[in-house]
Amino acid sequence: MITRMSSLFLRTLREDPADAEVPSHRLLVRAGYVRRVAPGMYTWLPLGLRVLRKIEEIVREEMNAFGAQEIQFPALLPREPYETTGRWTEYGDSLFRLKDRKGGDYLLGPTHEELFTLTVKGEYSSYKDYPVTLYQIQTKYRDEARPRAGILRGREFVMKDSYSFDLDDEGLTRSYQAHRDAYSKLFDRLGLEYVVVAATSGAMGGSASEEFLAVAETGEDTYVRSTDSGYAANVEAVTTPAPPAQPIEGRPEAKVYETPNTPTIEKLVTFFNELDLGRTFTAADTLKNVLVKVHNPGAKEWELLAIGLPGDREVDMKRLEAALEPAEVALLEDADFAKAPFLVKGYIGPKSLKDNGVRYLVDPRVVDGTAWLTGADKRGEHVLDLLAGRDFTPDGTIEAAEVREGDASPDGHGTLVAARGIEIGHIFQLGRKYADAFTLDALGPDSKPIRITMGSYGVGVSRLVGVLAEQNHDDIGLIWPREVAPADVHVVIAGKSEELTAGGEKLAAELDAAGVSVILDDRKASPGVKFADAELVGVPTILVVGRGLANGVVEVKDRRTGEREEVAVDTVVEHLVKLVNS
Ligand code: ATP
Ligand code: MG
Repeated sequence: MITRMSSLFLRTLREDPADAEVPSHRLLVRAGYVRRVAPGMYTWLPLGLRVLRKIEEIVREEMNAFGAQEIQFPALLPREPYETTGRWTEYGDSLFRLKDRKGGDYLLGPTHEELFTLTVKGEYSSYKDYPVTLYQIQTKYRDEARPRAGILRGREFVMKDSYSFDLDDEGLTRSYQAHRDAYSKLFDRLGLEYVVVAATSGAMGGSASEEFLAVAETGEDTYVRSTDSGYAANVEAVTTPAPPAQPIEGRPEAKVYETPNTPTIEKLVTFFNELDLGRTFTAADTLKNVLVKVHNPGAKEWELLAIGLPGDREVDMKRLEAALEPAEVALLEDADFAKAPFLVKGYIGPKSLKDNGVRYLVDPRVVDGTAWLTGADKRGEHVLDLLAGRDFTPDGTIEAAEVREGDASPDGHGTLVAARGIEIGHIFQLGRKYADAFTLDALGPDSKPIRITMGSYGVGVSRLVGVLAEQNHDDIGLIWPREVAPADVHVVIAGKSEELTAGGEKLAAELDAAGVSVILDDRKASPGVKFADAELVGVPTILVVGRGLANGVVEVKDRRTGEREEVAVDTVVEHLVKLVNS
């Protein structure tokens, strides 16, 4: 196919869009792949749509290759199935809810577990029908709190979502593995640099779960790897190894100290070190109590929650959010403190939390028998040697403390290093949560019902366009991997003469006849403008038909390496066919 720049619905931009924070967003807008309609909502222009469709096709091929079958649900869905599983409420503010003319409740599907479960229930009844894996490539809707980075985090986006249905746990393990393998193949085909990491399962529910993260400095996800083992996890999923509990008996009594003007950990530690108590204090000896408020889906009120953690660590809001999902969480404002005068900022201790019925969760390092320096609930007072399990008993533990490079790996081997990534795929074993909700059973060989076990698996298809751009660009433009490029060769006619025009047209026609897809820059623009646009658009091979043509040569430029090579005009078609198919 020949795409003519003279008529292509494309206007490239010289300026970066004002709202662009990441390179992919900036370049996809400038190169005319997408246009913003509203926050998190984008129009796909011809070149963008081509890349999107190619990615879709690769995803489809890899799904079909292991026997998954494609179906398509509406995006507009009735409330009832989501009411049955509780997700109508649990999904919180991210769910787009709407009403029809009769006042009936509907939603725009954020993910389709309910519908797939019901559909399998409707069609299948015998154990002989199973296993089955179904998928769709479809537009999803989520009213994201922070739509960001163009199509990387949209409120409308394209996802491949699939669901496996098996008779037993071994079957589920096989289906999960089949997805894991297919995802690896497909991301390899796209030439992505990615890692597979342990994940939390979020609003879906269920157990085993891994994420595929594309490596990118601009990513929103942080993951850690062990220096010495295969351990890798999203920081949200890192579990803190708890030290062994210590004896309670024979330990010093807790003692309250007057500690004027010590509202920060640093001041507190200095103060105690200056007391000369015969021991050295560090921030890790202090127990810091951080107050947040939590809103459970459907609840009227926000509730206070206190998190106790060693004073040398901050609360990581993303880990906290993941730990509390589906509840929402926010920091306390002055108004909240005003309503709870027992919270003495800088001096909050476990005692007043308990006395006032505030739920108190602690870091897993706070095991029974550990002694802490913490607030005594009065301005200018702290308590030393407050012993967990003797002087206070938290309501449980929570994974909310930051994970740091150099921390011990949870698997006991090596230490952690951190990097950032963008989630491109997520696979998880749901188990029987949805089958239970809808009583999805198969009639077994002995006529007894067998409860079906499920997996759910997602690929961010439209996000992949952004991720590929994020991993494949330079200062002047995009550089598409061949598999998804909007064309194979970008032919630039570098001049206005009839000879050059005729030469370019001829080569484009020959390439086209040989099955090579071509963008032909046949505009009346200057060579400089054409070169700049070719670099910006990012087709991997640029063919320049310029002055050399008179001497029988044209120039082939590799967009990625910048290498140029002169090729005889008689052999260039053959040369490019080889290049494109290599
Ligand atoms: P995230 O943590 O990035 O919000 P998620 O865990 O909520 O994603 P899943 O429910 O696992 O996402 O969805 C499957 C895949 O869909 C994700 O791995 C991601 O690639 C993609 N995806 C999710 N949300 C968006 C979005 N708002 N815009 C574009 N793609 C998305
Ligand atoms: Mg996910």
